[in-house]
Amino acid sequence: MALAFSDVEKMLVNEQKKRDDHLVIGGLESFIHTWITKIKQDGETDKLARADALALILRGYGNADTNARFDMLNHALLVLREVTADAPAPAADELADVFDEDEDEFVPTRREASKPKPPAPRAPVVAGYGLDASVSRLQNVGPAHAKKLQKLGVYTVNDLLYLFPRRYDDFSHLRNISELMVNDEVTVLLTVCECFTRDTKRGLKITTVVLADMTGTITATFFNQPFLQQQFKAGRRIVVSGRVFKDLGKLAFKQPEWEPFSKSLLHTARIVPVYPLTEGITSRWLRRLVNDVVEYWASKVADPMPEQIRTRENLLDLPGALREIHFPTTPEKMERARRRLILDEFLTIQLGVLQQRRKWREQPGRALNVERHRVDEFLGRLAFKLTGAQTRVLEEILGDIQRTQPMSRLLQGDVGSGKTVVAAAAMLIAVANGAQAALMAPTEILAEQHFKTLSKVFAELPTARAPRVARLTGSMKNREKEDARTQIAAGEVDIAVGTHALIQESVEFRDLALAVIDEQHRFGVEQRAMIRAKGYSPHIVVMSATPIPRTLALTLYGDLDLSVIDELPPGRQAIQTKWLEPLERERAYGFIRGHINQGRQAFVICPLIEESEAIDAKAAVEEYERLRTQIYPDLRIGLIHGKLRPAEKDETMNAFRDHQIDVLVATSVVEVGIDVPNATVMLIEGADRFGLAQLHQFRGRVGRGGHESFCLLLAEKKESASDERLRVIESTQNGFLLAEEDLKLRGPGEFFGLRQSGLPDLKIAKLSDAKLLEEARALAQEIFDRDPELRAPEHHLLAQRVKDFWKGKGDLS
Ligand code: ADP
Ligand code: MG
Repeated sequence: MALAFSDVEKMLVNEQKKRDDHLVIGGLESFIHTWITKIKQDGETDKLARADALALILRGYGNADTNARFDMLNHALLVLREVTADAPAPAADELADVFDEDEDEFVPTRREASKPKPPAPRAPVVAGYGLDASVSRLQNVGPAHAKKLQKLGVYTVNDLLYLFPRRYDDFSHLRNISELMVNDEVTVLLTVCECFTRDTKRGLKITTVVLADMTGTITATFFNQPFLQQQFKAGRRIVVSGRVFKDLGKLAFKQPEWEPFSKSLLHTARIVPVYPLTEGITSRWLRRLVNDVVEYWASKVADPMPEQIRTRENLLDLPGALREIHFPTTPEKMERARRRLILDEFLTIQLGVLQQRRKWREQPGRALNVERHRVDEFLGRLAFKLTGAQTRVLEEILGDIQRTQPMSRLLQGDVGSGKTVVAAAAMLIAVANGAQAALMAPTEILAEQHFKTLSKVFAELPTARAPRVARLTGSMKNREKEDARTQIAAGEVDIAVGTHALIQESVEFRDLALAVIDEQHRFGVEQRAMIRAKGYSPHIVVMSATPIPRTLALTLYGDLDLSVIDELPPGRQAIQTKWLEPLERERAYGFIRGHINQGRQAFVICPLIEESEAIDAKAAVEEYERLRTQIYPDLRIGLIHGKLRPAEKDETMNAFRDHQIDVLVATSVVEVGIDVPNATVMLIEGADRFGLAQLHQFRGRVGRGGHESFCLLLAEKKESASDERLRVIESTQNGFLLAEEDLKLRGPGEFFGLRQSGLPDLKIAKLSDAKLLEEARALAQEIFDRDPELRAPEHHLLAQRVKDFWKGKGDLS
């Protein structure tokens, strides 16, 4: 039989004393190779993997200098001892357990040091429970812990598997003390020399351990963890990971991660996962828990990826990916795990979108006849000529509505790009077919604006051919609403413009053939489905001023066809945009006053505080009071925020439009396409909290008239004013460019403005992972082409995933 691991260990330990490579004839490297040959000859395959690992670690030993040799030997010994320590001294392991319960990075604890908790049992879960079992079934998780885990979104065992690390600390390279430099993040295998605890005057307990390896000594200090005193027995070997400090000229660790040197190192000497934490949950505890769960459960997770694709795409299997994402063995493996898990997420979204798309397309729609001269007559009487982009997009829409398949199109165009007139032309054609059209806007004020615009453009047409337009909004009197509904039902109205009121059950169209939905991300999915239900599979256009980058649009709205107006009408002036530092606020106020004195108006946008309309509203009220009483006591100040009733909002907006208000204080509710040409200055407070795309949306509220307009961005923090990223918005008016920039830096939730994102919750993928997104789209298409309903047995799990993922999220069409 080949030499046992324990014999090799002894050799390495001896070698480590001298490091002259004279221990075995021919040197250590060739010794290991001979050993491996012998292992193979004897068929001791169980030894092989580890022996190969040793060979790798010791490669180049003969030519290495003594320091490097020491390092190699340390590493080799670590690997070796993982096997030789199969039966660890029970005492050590118990101690480790006590430890996991009681200490962490510097959290002064009030717990009595003399009474460490009894060791917790380590068995991960009682047999018989599945992946969807509550975490409280896990043996180390009590009710209190379970509650805290919920704060991290973790309810089930499966959730824990999918609680991915925020980041990693790479402690995988062992160093010697002699190599350490101040500020390095390092991992060192050390022996305890001595340990003492002292009280400071202020009642702090400081435990200091003196540690050594062959090359020197270093101290480690811990605060208020006097129980450590018992752990650090002289001669004990521990692995320490952390940053190196200099303390009175000597090297030191402060509150480092550490663990007893044992067979499986979790917190040190590896790529260590760092999880999101919440109060009452320590990283060591969580890491241990996840480790237990991964060890036991990862292998039991069924892999939804069809085997054939997995092999072809060289993907890790799901259990492997879950293991590696939590406890990577190498950075390369971790990357592969990430790739696998990101593809999973994107694939799920894509399959859902493709199914949705098919569902829409399957319905038979109504082909409309497009009479060219009607289109030309309308366009000919406009006060302007359509831009090239408008013309192209209008053609796309007209092409669609001539088909029997109902149109589902997303019409994107930057603020002011002229979407409304394109929609108007399409609606006119629907009406020319003897059918009806609807235009739905998210707010009363926008509906009102559209009503006026449409009435105006259609008034240019000969009366006989001008569509009859009516309004239907929530704030109208009951009588008026009733009248509108009757007319819509009787077909006496050709185009209905309104808010949500349009999709109430009481509304019936005689013959709805085309529905246009403006600023679509403000509308929920159900609302879109409801307007569809108002007609016989009507053609649908949703319009959005949010410039969604193409990859993202294809992913999230993959069930819609995409039209983009990527050109502004000529003669639009650029809005002068300036980032200001907090100190410059007074100047901004003076600047606004100057414009007000010239008869202009201004917006002041309040910072986004958190995802709570109530809190934002409160802050807006305070800002309003401050401006009204202290800064501009002589001016007319208005206030608008999300907590106001729609009627109140409209009242204020109308007053602003009619110039009864000089300065309008607002939360992000003004984001949507409000048109007040006389407003020329916008001041955005806390601008560094908004995404670039959203700032751009706000900015679009000014510069709508003939006057030169300005957008002042006040950063909250001083440094942020110099942030390169924020300079981008000063330099460009291109919404798509800003959106791309945003997406690179921020999540999609922030990208869309926090509240109305309606986006799927991605656990690991970022929408900026564009390449993987493309790959996933191709994969989804491939699977879908072969098996659109995901009925094949090998797609069964995938189908389940898609269903689970979209549950409660509705569809995205
Ligand atoms: P948005 O795409 O933001 O909804 P609108 O449809 O409200 O933009 O158009 C903004 C303004 O531009 C309107 O006053 C509209 O009349 C005007 N407009 C639209 N198209 C053109 C064009 N081709 N040339 C000049 N002005 C245009
Ligand atoms: Mg608009």
